[in-house]
This record gives sequence, structure tokens and C-alpha cells, in this order.
Amino acid sequence: MLVTNDDGVRAPGLWALVKSLQTVAEVVVVAPDREQSGVGTSISLHNPLRIVPVDAPVTGVETYAVEGTPGDAVILALGHLAKDGVDMVVAGINQGANLGNDVYISGTVGAACQGWFYGLPSVALSVGALHNVKFEAAAKLAPLLAGLFARGKLPRNLLLNVTLPNVSLYDIQGIEVGRLARRTYADVVEEGWDGKRKYYWVVRGNAEWKDDPGTDVRAVRMGRVSLTPLSSSNPQLLATLRRLCFPLYSELLTARPEE
Ligand code: MN
Repeated sequence: MLVTNDDGVRAPGLWALVKSLQTVAEVVVVAPDREQSGVGTSISLHNPLRIVPVDAPVTGVETYAVEGTPGDAVILALGHLAKDGVDMVVAGINQGANLGNDVYISGTVGAACQGWFYGLPSVALSVGALHNVKFEAAAKLAPLLAGLFARGKLPRNLLLNVTLPNVSLYDIQGIEVGRLARRTYADVVEEGWDGKRKYYWVVRGNAEWKDDPGTDVRAVRMGRVSLTPLSSSNPQLLATLRRLCFPLYSELLTARPEE
């Protein structure tokens, strides 16, 4: 199993995820060497990439840092470092929600997208907070999702976006399938002077979301986990996912407590 992210190879969410997935699979980590949030699906075609082996904070996990985007990391992993040895790609656990329109710029989703291009089940996992992020529930959910793929309960050509509210495991109110919400707030361009030249800085404003019922934003606001298939909106797939939500939620709540 390949684990990657867009927050960089040192991000705590990555290692919470690795620790948890390591209990069910052999894990290899290939991740950007620095934070790359918001780079979406971008890949580097105009410059060479370097790979640096990293001493993992979790023992027994082969780990590499890539001087590139999350998409680059996945391509290098699947096309070079771990050829043929990967059956699934999990990206995360991202610090910050990846919901609605934002999935199209998310580096976490971008990484998972590359896995899906390679024909592998691919999951992007995020928690909806930038500070004091509670990774436990997301970390517990990851092996359960992997199990659904392994047992053939989910199709292998699935790109799945998963966002959890930033609450403790037992405060999760449910799991549901959410369609992408719409964001109505534009980013702000700030102008400045660097002493020589004018510069412009794209600043992310506070998003204003249309959190209609059935959307991913509403689910997370209500304290529920949102599952959004990004590879297909086939009604049969949606029905399959909906059927899995409650059993998955029950399984999540009874997951082994943290050692
Ligand atoms: Mn990120």
C-alpha cells in the first residue's frame, strides 16, 4: 500500500495514517519533501525530480521524500520505487477539509487521483481543521476502507474523497455519502511591494459554503464523515456506498482503542 500526502513527509497526519494502516498492510511512504497544499493534480514536466530516502518515525516503513508535487510522488512511487508492489493508494491525513469545489485544487485529492489513473483504489483522507487536528478517527477509518476494497465490497476503480469533522472518535455522528458543495467566496489578491517590484499574493478567504442537505459540507458540519466518489456518479455505486455507511460507522465506533 502506498501512503502519501500534500502536507509533506514530516506531517503528523501522514504518520498517524501510516501507524494505523501498517496493522493491515505493508506500507511504503512516498511524499513531497515539503508542504504542497493546493497544488491539485499538478505534475512536474519541466524540471527533474529528486528522491531522498528518509528515516521514518515509524519503524519498518520504507520512506522517501520527493522534491516535487504530491502527484509527482505517486508517479515516482508507482512508476519506479514500488513498481507492481502497490494495491492501493491512500493520501492524507490532510490537515484541513477538502470539500466541494476545493477538491479540484487539493493536493491530497491530486495525489489520490494519480493512483486512480494507475487503476488502483485510491482514497483521499482529510480532517476539517488546520489546528489541533484530531487524527484518531480518520486513522481508524483508513484500514476499514482498505478492508472494503480487499473484500471486494467497493469497486477497484474508485477514487474516493473522505473528510471527517475534527472531533474525537466517539463524537462522530455518522457516515454519509455527500455530493460536492459549492463555494461562493472568491480568493483575495493582495498587492505589495518587495522593495524592487510589485508582487501579488493569492490569499484564501474564509469560504462561504452552500451547505445544502446531501452535500459533503453539510455532512461534516453535522459532525458526520463525508464520503464522495470522485471517479463516478453512477447511481449503483452511490447506492453501494450508502449501504456501506452504517456498517462502516458501527465498525469505526468499535475499532480498537489507541494503545
Ligand atoms: Mn494539505
